[in-house]
Amino acid sequence: MSDSSIPEPPYDRVWNFSAGPSALPVSVLEQVQRDLFNYKGHGMSVMEMSHRSKVYGQIIGNAEATLRRVLKIPDNYSVLFLQGGGTGEFAAAYLNLFASKAVREKQRKLGRQLNCDYLVTGSWSKGGLKEVQRLGGQPNVVVNGVTSAENGEIKYTGLPPVSKWNLGKPEETAFVYYCENETIHGVETPSDFVVDAVDPSVPVICDMSSNMLSRPVDVSRFGAIVAGAQKNMGPAGVTIVIVRKDLLERDDDPEAIRNLPSVLDWCYFDAAGSMPHTPPTFAIYVCGLVFEW
Ligand code: PMP
Repeated sequence: MSDSSIPEPPYDRVWNFSAGPSALPVSVLEQVQRDLFNYKGHGMSVMEMSHRSKVYGQIIGNAEATLRRVLKIPDNYSVLFLQGGGTGEFAAAYLNLFASKAVREKQRKLGRQLNCDYLVTGSWSKGGLKEVQRLGGQPNVVVNGVTSAENGEIKYTGLPPVSKWNLGKPEETAFVYYCENETIHGVETPSDFVVDAVDPSVPVICDMSSNMLSRPVDVSRFGAIVAGAQKNMGPAGVTIVIVRKDLLERDDDPEAIRNLPSVLDWCYFDAAGSMPHTPPTFAIYVCGLVFEW
């Protein structure tokens, strides 16, 4: 006879169409349950384990290796596990790119601050744009939704043709930013569409918070891909950044990182295997199980 306090499959689960964290595979939840009191004989759950322990090093290492395999991430890209969610990356993408050697060299040649280009296709890319403005940047708006022919109202229901995009000059542009799947407004902007339109010298930064791992992507076409984990990859609390290594190079200029807090600094995380400080250990472990799944 089963103990009624122990849940059994199919666990009376419901379809979850709510905002925020989404469904996890049942087999992953079952594995988490099995591991909860004693992870592989280590006498504790992953939640209770030191992030400096050998066993946790294997957990985060396996998570990264599996993500690399699943997404076919090239060796010249770093995979970082951070905190701060998709929103943290609105600021981080801008601050890190503007601190990078590539951008600062381009800026020196030009003799002034570069622009960054934003495709605004809904509330999340608008959030990215606003964050840059809040930090004192002057982003260039490449597109801002579509304008209604009837009343001139801006609607986030699609994209104008590339011929109508207001892309900056490549020599004046630090990066182009877009959100591939606008979770609220529903506009999906295929990556090839954007990357094909952008000069290859300009890195393309993509927010994939709500469609990461939903289909294969050619990572090599991006400067960086950023995504909060909670929609497709695991629990809330961990943010994944895949970034081309040359964009992590800096010159020695302390000015470059003056306004870049350590917790948003991609180089700081890259240099320490995503663990310069305590990472969201449990969330990363669950992500690793989802990547295996
Ligand atoms: N970008 C997209 C596409 C999102 O869907 C979300 C959250 N739903 C965010 C950014 C913000 O993410 P967070 O809540 O993790 O800050």
